[in-house]
Amino acid sequence: MTDLTRLTIAEARARLAAKDFTALELTDAYLGAIEAANGALNAYVTVTPEQARKMAVASDARIADGKAGALEGIPLGIKDLFATEGVHTQACSHILDGFKPRYESTVTANLWADGAVMLGKLNMDEFAMGSSNESSYYGPVKNPWRAEGANRDLVPGGSSGGSAAAVAAHLCAGATATDTGGSIRQPAAFTGTVGIKPTYGRCSRWGIVAFASSLDQAGPIARDVRDAAILLKSMASTDAKDTTSVDLPVPDYEQALGGSLKGMKIGIPREYRVDGMPDEIEALWQKGIAWLKDAGAEIVDISLPHTKYALPAYYIVAPAEASSNLARYDGVRYGLRVDGKDIADMYEQTRAEGFGQEVKRRIMIGTYVLSAGYYDAYYLRAQKVRTLIKRDFETAFHAGVDAILTPATPSSAFGIADQELAADPVKMYLNDVFTVTVNMAGLPGIAVPAGLDASGLPLGLQLIGKPFEEETLFKTAYAIEQAAGRFEPKRWW
Ligand code: GLN
Repeated sequence: MTDLTRLTIAEARARLAAKDFTALELTDAYLGAIEAANGALNAYVTVTPEQARKMAVASDARIADGKAGALEGIPLGIKDLFATEGVHTQACSHILDGFKPRYESTVTANLWADGAVMLGKLNMDEFAMGSSNESSYYGPVKNPWRAEGANRDLVPGGSSGGSAAAVAAHLCAGATATDTGGSIRQPAAFTGTVGIKPTYGRCSRWGIVAFASSLDQAGPIARDVRDAAILLKSMASTDAKDTTSVDLPVPDYEQALGGSLKGMKIGIPREYRVDGMPDEIEALWQKGIAWLKDAGAEIVDISLPHTKYALPAYYIVAPAEASSNLARYDGVRYGLRVDGKDIADMYEQTRAEGFGQEVKRRIMIGTYVLSAGYYDAYYLRAQKVRTLIKRDFETAFHAGVDAILTPATPSSAFGIADQELAADPVKMYLNDVFTVTVNMAGLPGIAVPAGLDASGLPLGLQLIGKPFEEETLFKTAYAIEQAAGRFEPKRWW
């Protein structure tokens, strides 16, 4: 039999329906691939083979009964940030040691309701804070890609590094991920995969460990645009348990794929040409512009003048919300408890031991910017900047722009334990320069692979759309994918 893990979700869906193989065989193929690769890549923090096989057997029964759901028998990996009933859910933090929720997140419940199979939980930066997956309590994830002729280990990006690596290395057919400032799009770009952060409110946040509640959104990482469209359709819903989820029907995103881009206006924001950006990124951007022109779109230059304030404002808003959200981890309610001489000491010991360095840094920044006397100068001002960033996009869309094309990241994947980045956290934060604006404005953004750099590493382009117009992004990203082709890492693990 051909290697079943090579199939896309769309291909596997068709062949399961045709009864070419069973969901159990497909699941076993992925479990075998995980067993062979996870020691090297560290993409999964827990694998759930028994549950997977049980779900696959149930899928086979539904297929036999003609009752297959939209994702029937499709094996998925789940970011460790999503609550999965009775299964490891620790946001890859020490402070949630042993936490197994008694409930299921809405997004994962939607996936299981459509027949998907859970393979296990995926590695990530602790509490989704990071751009390299190096802040995980479970150690770094290795990117399945390596520079040509080199054997240096590269990061898969973050915070959804496990999701991106698992998808790129065929250790799942697709994965859930979350994006607060770029955590779906940046790892997708670093691994040659497709990742979409939908509009804020499109997916329910219920049962997803909160980082920065006004920015957090769930979305899929997949091997191609069609698979991302299929996954988002199942993940998205209106949910009474999340008051920020939006009461709008979920379109059949797959229907949007194909066709000409005639009549579409694509904006190119001049402020995304940042200092020190490698020539290759500029060249990739120009290639993207040419492809979209060829597909029939009109290209227009636009200005998003407040772009330069997005990153500093994000690093006030996100830590502020995080410091408040993470106050609940006190050693009383969940996970780790380190005893102290009294209750206050117990809180302190638990938090000192349970949180990693990056999480502590965020909590301290967040507490500082929210404290009396600083609130107006930092937090309130950052919120005002946020409004201005949103207004920049609104102005462009009002002028007739349908989507905005930018690079996804300012570079290709960098090395694990990069000394320069370790020494200066702000350098690490710069990875998000093209992605955070989208979270600040609550807009949808998709990263799609567009080429390889000089050393053979994948690079991605980003498309930014109007609220709840994910279909436009899928359609446009599909045109890029058709022109650019697909990219697969050479297997070394
Ligand atoms: N890299 C960004 C951060 O560290 C974004 C993370 C995310 O989107 N979850 O905050």
